[in-house]
Amino acid sequence: MNLYQLKLGDMEEAMQLNECPLCFLDEAVKKMYLNRLINNVLDDGYREEWQESGGLCPEHALLLLEHGSATGHAILYQDLIHNWQDIWLNNKINCPVCKRLTENKQDASKAFMWGIKNAPTFKERYSTSAGLCKEHFNIVYNQADVEMQSFLITVQERAFQELNSKLTLLLRQHDYNFQGKKDPEAAKAWRKAARYWSSGVEKKWRV
Ligand SMILES: [Zn+2]
Ligand SMILES: [Zn+2]
Repeated sequence: MNLYQLKLGDMEEAMQLNECPLCFLDEAVKKMYLNRLINNVLDDGYREEWQESGGLCPEHALLLLEHGSATGHAILYQDLIHNWQDIWLNNKINCPVCKRLTENKQDASKAFMWGIKNAPTFKERYSTSAGLCKEHFNIVYNQADVEMQSFLITVQERAFQELNSKLTLLLRQHDYNFQGKKDPEAAKAWRKAARYWSSGVEKKWRV
């Protein structure tokens, strides 16, 4: 089994959940790094990388903060505070989560394209999936050959037609004349529509 194949299973799980498979892998990267940072705060390798990084970007600092760990934060920030002038005045923050996400975007998009070309079940599952978010669609599309580009467009077009009918159903369900059982997928279609533009997974799958 090659490294690409390892990622395909996670991406297929995301497709079954109607999520962008590449956003799902980004989420796993964030989760793994932040958990390991907090749980291995005294591990030399991690701490050295942390000190060199100068800390997290605002988005990821807030994300880690939401996950608490008073002692973990205390140790991590003591490491930075003693060097604050150099970090702040020279703007030396090189967020390690952002760094991992940038690397992951390349690896994951290559794995995705490898799967479409070489793993028929992956390709089949993708063809009935909810497609990709805008950012990941563009990354993959720009690296794809003409044949794959046309496949990507077809899948995305079908996914948007389905989304559009769910949005229509959502509006019908919100009409005061609507009676009967509400479709839960349609009820959350507005969030899915926004996530196609913004990237990200449904709240329950987030870090
Ligand atoms: Zn995505
Ligand atoms: Zn960051």
